Amino acid sequence: MVDFSFTDADKKIAALAREEAEIARGYSRHYDKHEDEIEPKMFDEVKDRPDPLEVLDSLESETSGRVIVEHLVTMETARGDVRMRRIKRHLGDKIVNYAGTEEQRKLFGNKLLSIAMTEPGAGSDPSMIRGTARCDDATGEWVLNAEKIYCSAFGASDGAFVFVRGPEKNGVRPFMGFVVEKGAPGLVELGQVKKMGIRSWDTADFVLQDCRVPAINKIDVDFKKTMIVFNGTRPGVAAMGLAIAGSLLEFTREKLFGKDHAIDYAKGIRTRSAIEDRLIRLEALYEATLLTILRCKWLEHRDGTNNGATKVEAAMSKALGGKAARKITQGCMELLGPEGLSEDYLAEKWFRDARIFDIFEGAGDVNRLIVARSLLDYSQKELN
Ligand SMILES: Cc1cc2nc3c(=O)[nH]c(=O)nc-3n(C[C@H](O)[C@H](O)[C@H](O)COP(=O)(O)OP(=O)(O)OC[C@H]3O[C@@H](n4cnc5c(N)ncnc54)[C@H](O)[C@@H]3O)c2cc1C
Repeated sequence: MVDFSFTDADKKIAALAREEAEIARGYSRHYDKHEDEIEPKMFDEVKDRPDPLEVLDSLESETSGRVIVEHLVTMETARGDVRMRRIKRHLGDKIVNYAGTEEQRKLFGNKLLSIAMTEPGAGSDPSMIRGTARCDDATGEWVLNAEKIYCSAFGASDGAFVFVRGPEKNGVRPFMGFVVEKGAPGLVELGQVKKMGIRSWDTADFVLQDCRVPAINKIDVDFKKTMIVFNGTRPGVAAMGLAIAGSLLEFTREKLFGKDHAIDYAKGIRTRSAIEDRLIRLEALYEATLLTILRCKWLEHRDGTNNGATKVEAAMSKALGGKAARKITQGCMELLGPEGLSEDYLAEKWFRDARIFDIFEGAGDVNRLIVARSLLDYSQKELN
């Protein structure tokens, strides 16, 4: 049976993350206004506080499971807008640790590596990737040329795991993956991207111009298998979007009814106010989305990570999470009226921040396609 009640250890770890998020709120507006600034590795305010993820290491046997609690921490942390501690693992190094040889894991497994797939013209559809790799037979090095955009965490990372097209074989240029470390000759960093929302989110562009990397940097990845890593991260990204929507929902409720007002949920639709009714509907969407995400993480805990078992549930979580983030924030802004637009509050920021969660880590439309293919038993060619 699915049991969504949390253990005392789960609650303790989540509460630690929530307390940090409350401290982080003090920096929300600063990083919204200074998007070129990369947050410190760790803020002074949390130096003497226990790291929620380290507490998870020590209490794991008393929790509902690592992936579930990691996810709770992700969600609570997102409520703070700004990270008080930089994350210790990125998608790129997860791929190296999962697909690399022992030597490659030793060399790159402990580095912070972003993932760089997106190019102008190649976002949802990676088959449009045009970056290239060729081998220089004289030196054994690989020579890479590509324009990579919107690379998360690249500003503070040690480099990126870059997807490009290898030399043509039987009329096809296969996907290839390389570790490109900062300082590699030919890597030109273009700096932070100016964004509408999540401005504290380190996001950078870079170009590879005849960028040379040693042969050991080529990770032997199967593109489809690599995509399996996203089954673990999609629910987490959905949860972040939902957490931001949750912040705006809490704020809206307080603004409309005050801190201590308790909505009577047992009242019928005829006796409660229209405003209460609209708020309840947004809360219901929030709860339904949270349960969808938790169910996905519970399945991952039961059936394993990085084996494709939760592909559909991860896509469902992300599709619903992105949609809920948009609908809840939009609904709250309608309820708040002009006050929602004032920079005196964070409401307008949360409204901007939430939008991206239906775009990256698989846009909503693309995740709905994954779910539909599975339900209707269509191949990617038949339904795209
Ligand atoms: C802040 C931020 C961080 C990011 N971080 C990273 C990163 O770390 N690494 C990385 O590689 N990329 C990253 N990205 C890029 C992100 O993954 C892409 O923006 C995303 O994949 C969508 O691609 P696109 O922007 O080209 O939009 P498009 O793919 O052009 O989509 C445009 C619209 O068309 C819809 N659409 C697309 N295909 C279909 C279809 N088949 N059927 C129906 N509708 C469809 C989409 O849902 C969307 O609404 C990031 C982007 C942002 C903004």
